[in-house]
Formats: sequence, structure tokens, C-alpha cells
Amino acid sequence: MSDLTGKVAVVTGGTRGIGLAIAAWMLEHGASVVISGRDADRLNIALKELARDGAPVGGLVADAARREGADRLVEMARERFGHLDVLVNNAGITRDGLVIRMKDEDWDRVLETNLKGAFLMIRAASKAMVRRKTGGRIINIASTAGAMGNAGQANYSAAKAGLIGLTKATARELAHWGILVNAVAPGLVETDMAAALPADARDALLAQVPLKRIGTAREVAEMVGFLAGDGAAYVTGQVFHVNGGLYM
Ligand code: NAD
Repeated sequence: MSDLTGKVAVVTGGTRGIGLAIAAWMLEHGASVVISGRDADRLNIALKELARDGAPVGGLVADAARREGADRLVEMARERFGHLDVLVNNAGITRDGLVIRMKDEDWDRVLETNLKGAFLMIRAASKAMVRRKTGGRIINIASTAGAMGNAGQANYSAAKAGLIGLTKATARELAHWGILVNAVAPGLVETDMAAALPADARDALLAQVPLKRIGTAREVAEMVGFLAGDGAAYVTGQVFHVNGGLYM
């Protein structure tokens, strides 16, 4: 069983869905965790849920797309728990539409949150990890859309494909310091994001899943947890697809 005792993790967008499941998994396996979200009320609800048994968890209202938020999150992990070992770039949004009708701001906002946000967090976190000289783990939550493309999601598919490139480039750069960088690419997973898909698009995707069901946030968290632990010590620059076979 994975053991993250003594490890400190930051999970962006940890207030619901996949991020919340990752934070819960890490707390169950001994880590201390800092989560972020944009909405203070939602963040407080998540913190109450996660801290139920006195678990070591902190939270910050921070926009993942802004540099100040990234720096403050890393600072908070260090102030509250002493250091930072694991970064999970999970915060993400969709603003779907056909490319011929897509507004500039829908393109920009999706790229800023899903891709630039990850860059800002990786820069802030890896500086702290390099200084401490004990290595680290960075796990980026990509998407099947980034590997195979999804009609109606040109912005999101481009951002997630970019995140896979960012994963591989930073895995090469940061290996020297023992910082391992990987991506987890979920398929269709039961969260608010998947619920927002039009029913016909959701059904069309589900029809292509060999395992014939939607995935759970916990099933994504299991893969992220593995990548954060000792069992993944020789794994970097890889993309792990958790998608019921939707993309192979
Ligand atoms: P969700 O909408 O349920 O949760 C998204 C989380 O990100 C929330 O906590 C939200 O507050 C946070 N967030 C969004 N924008 C933010 C910002 N600017 N700053 C800080 N936090 C922000 O979605 P989810 O399904 O849990 O998605 C989590 C990740 O998994 C995303 O990166 C998403 O792209 C990816 N993903 C989801 C699916 C799916 O089917 N649900 C599939 C593939 C990939």
C-alpha cells in the first residue's frame, strides 16, 4: 500500500470532483495537504469534509491562472507544514463550442486556467523543491481530449495537449533534481464537469468506452496517489490514461 507519511502536497482545484478525491486519498495515506479553489464557501465546505478526523489540511482561495495565487500556495504549504513534496495541477475548466463560433475569451480563459496555471504552479513549486534538494513529484491532470481531440473542445483539447508537452519538457529539466513529472489523463469521470456535457455528447463518448461505464474520481485519485509514492520512483515524463479504454 502507498504510504505518503511525512509528505506535503498541494492540490489545485481541490474543492470538488477529482481534486477533492485526490486530496482525500492523500490524507488517508498520511500526507498533509493544501487545496485551492476560487470560491471561499465551497473551499470551506471541502476543508470541513477533509478535516473531519483532524486531518492535516489547509486551504487557500486562489485563482490557478494567476501568478500571485501560485506563489501563495507554495508559501502556505511551507508555512503550515514545513516544505512541499508533491504538486498536483488539477484545476481546470471547460468552455465548449465549435471552433467557428468560439469567442476569444473562451479560448483565452481555458488556456490560462488549464495550461498557464500549471506552468505558474510548476515554476513556483519546483523552485522550492530544488532549494530543498530532496526531490519531488509533480502530477498534471490532463485529459483524453488532449491525446485524441474532442469536437466542440478545441480550446480544452489544445490546453490539455499543451499540458502533456509541458509535462515531458519539465520532466527532462527537473530530473537532475530528482523531481519527477507525470500526467494523468482521465476519460469521462463522474463530476460536475462531466455533468455539464450535453447529454448526446456524453452518450456518444460513453458508447466508445470498452468498460461501458463512466469512471469515478476515486479511480483517478488512485493513479495520482501511486505516482506520488515510492512505487513510482523510476517513472517520469509519462502520461497515464485512466479512461476505461476510451483511448488506447
Ligand atoms: P470540476 O469542475 O468538478 O472541478 C474543477 C475544480 O477546479 C474545482 O475545484 C474548481 O474550483 C477548480 N478550478 C477551476 N478553475 C479554477 C481556477 N481558475 N483557480 C482555482 N481553481 C479552479 O471538474 P473535475 O471533473 O473534477 O476536473 C478536475 C480536472 O480533471 C480538470 O483539470 C479537468 O480538466 C480534468 N478532467 C476531468 C474529466 C471529467 O470527465 N470529469 C475528464 C478529463 C479530465
